[in-house]
Amino acid sequence: MRVIAIDGPAGSGKSTVAKALAARLNLDYLDTGAMYRAVAFAAIQKQIRPSEIEEITEIAKSLDLELTEESCVVNGVDATTEIRGPEVTSLVSQVATMPEVRIEMVKRQRAWAETRNGGVMEGRDIGSVVFPDAMLKIYLTASEEVRAARRAAEVKEGDVAIVAADIERRDAVDTQRAASPLVEAEDAIVVDTSAMTLQQVVDHVIGLIP
Ligand code: C5P
Repeated sequence: MRVIAIDGPAGSGKSTVAKALAARLNLDYLDTGAMYRAVAFAAIQKQIRPSEIEEITEIAKSLDLELTEESCVVNGVDATTEIRGPEVTSLVSQVATMPEVRIEMVKRQRAWAETRNGGVMEGRDIGSVVFPDAMLKIYLTASEEVRAARRAAEVKEGDVAIVAADIERRDAVDTQRAASPLVEAEDAIVVDTSAMTLQQVVDHVIGLIP
């Protein structure tokens, strides 16, 4: 199976790089962050509080998710825009700390790759947990300033300080959680994208494929 794992913190350029790589290599692309965002979206829709772990676990297990590169439909509702919005973004990392939610998402991620014999998968734990035998593991990173500026442009938020605070909060939860925290997998290749263009990153990563 040809799995390319792209992990790293928020704003490191994962999505842009992973999509471009998938297009260049003619592989499918999976945004695993969107899956956790979809669970958070469904919990908000059902007015479930973040403390109701059993209910959120049930939502994850029964989630009807249609995720493509362009759209995200959750339990029949188009959530493409909402999964990127502030409400979901503020809840998602808490949902992603729940071990049962992670077990369900990882199961789906493995099944996704198995049915297509690989793909480009981006997330936080792809190289460390989901596919420890991935053909290539990249850990993308960038300076805090660059990450905040990129994310601010992406979500069209004029106040970079607000975005920087949100990234810092999510990074803290993601790196400190007990279940599959964000870590550099032992054999991951770290790529600092702070001073690189998208094209440079993609060319560099393609050059690393064994
Ligand atoms: O990649 P994105 O920023 O959309 O991910 C949203 C959140 O989902 C992350 O902050 C993290 O809490 C969670 N996540 C995760 N494991 C993944 C992908 C995302 O815990 N593989």
